[in-house]
Amino acid sequence: MPGFARSMGRLGTETAFEVLARAKELERQGRDIVHLEIGEPDFDTPANIIEAAKRALDEGYTHYGPSAGLPQLREAVAAHIAADRNIPVTAANVVVTPGGKPIMFYGMLAILDPGDEALYPNPGFPIYESVINYLGAVPVPLVMRQENEFRLDLNEIKDKLSDKTRLLILNSPQNPTGGVLPAEDLKAIAEILTDYPKVWVLADEIYSKLVYDGEHASITAYEGMLERTVILDGFSKTYAMTGWRLGYGVMPVSLAEHVARLETNCNSCPPAMIQMAGVEALTGPQDEPARMREAFRERRDHLVRGLNAIEGIDCLLPGGAFYVFPSIRGLGMPAREVATRLLDEGGVAALSGTAFGVHGDGHLRFSYANSIENLDKALERLAEFVPALIRG
Ligand code: PLP
Repeated sequence: MPGFARSMGRLGTETAFEVLARAKELERQGRDIVHLEIGEPDFDTPANIIEAAKRALDEGYTHYGPSAGLPQLREAVAAHIAADRNIPVTAANVVVTPGGKPIMFYGMLAILDPGDEALYPNPGFPIYESVINYLGAVPVPLVMRQENEFRLDLNEIKDKLSDKTRLLILNSPQNPTGGVLPAEDLKAIAEILTDYPKVWVLADEIYSKLVYDGEHASITAYEGMLERTVILDGFSKTYAMTGWRLGYGVMPVSLAEHVARLETNCNSCPPAMIQMAGVEALTGPQDEPARMREAFRERRDHLVRGLNAIEGIDCLLPGGAFYVFPSIRGLGMPAREVATRLLDEGGVAALSGTAFGVHGDGHLRFSYANSIENLDKALERLAEFVPALIRG
């Protein structure tokens, strides 16, 4: 067989899908597994959104459309982001994509050359490091620490910025830690960046509607930032629409044109009827997303209380998203081994912190996008499994 491009050796992946496959295999063998590995709401998409998609099909939204997205949806996104973040953006700043993820890929393709340095959170969403490496750029990790409430260390940012830095990736609320960057940190980062005019910011705000205490803060609120920031957001998490594949980026018009051209080269455009469902999601009633958020908050509190009652586990109360990232250093074992044995012997699927980068060791990630009953089942299993693990 002929070989593959060398760059494929640099492309990473998302371990969550591998763990899901292993958990499903165990289920096929008759085992009962609690799924706390995958980051998607367990709720169904709200009915008004499903109806809008059906209506769009009946109305003939079955054709190609503009690469940057249908004008109706770009307008709706611009109005939503302008009001929500209190920033002056228009439809020309918006590019709609199949899921929010392509904004990472296209954004980095448009910004990074080989050898450029990109600062990114570690532990963090694994696709950042994967794409930076794939492009031959240099990934420079910003370590997220529990001792620091999973906030960024501002001195570390100052130390690691250089003449070669072209990109800073922010993610708040964060996957995998659930950490939220407070407005004062974002303001300080914006000030630091004034000395580095060549640096773009990718602000991954896909969990912006899942903040449990206070308001979501965006770096675009601070002077000079709107002109060099790409906001990544979308429908997957807020509206329980992971399988629909609909997201967007909001960015300066010149960059939006490049990103839309990348989309022309790849997807052509997002599906038309799905985009009409997106218009309904943004302009229709918002009580379902609010109800989901309150359910997540209750589950978060429940899971954190339960985890902290288990010796060897130390869990912060995260401010956002639907993940907890407890320290399991007390168990004295690599996180990967704990995660594997927890699945095989304990019947609970979770992810090793190392699935999010080397600095995630000593932690597990649990998604609490699951029912209280299932969280209780997982906690009961952990309460049996962990002491047995410590005893060896
Ligand atoms: N950004 C972060 C931090 C995520 O956790 C995810 C999904 O897990 C995404 C982006 C991608 O979301 P989407 O399903 O819209 O592509």
